[in-house]
Amino acid sequence: MAGEHVDLSSGGFPEGRDALQRRFLGVRFACCAVYARVYVNREGTAYTGNCPRCSRAVRFPIGEGGTDCRFFTVY
Ligand SMILES: [Zn+2]
Repeated sequence: MAGEHVDLSSGGFPEGRDALQRRFLGVRFACCAVYARVYVNREGTAYTGNCPRCSRAVRFPIGEGGTDCRFFTVY
C-alpha cells in the first residue's frame, strides 16, 4: 500500500525561481492585431518577446520603480 500518501510539502521547485520564470506581461501587437505574452529574460532585466505572426521584437526594460501596468500595446 506504499505510495498512496502524497506529501505536498516536499519537492517541487524553489518558490523564488518559479515566481521569476512566471513573470510576464500581456502585450497587444497592433501590427498584426494579436495578443501575446512576453516573459522576463534570463537576467531578469527586461521583458522580451516577439509578435507571434510577424516576429517583430519587443522589449520592456525593468527599471527601478518600474510600472505596475501589466498590459501594453505595441505599435
Ligand atoms: Zn506583428
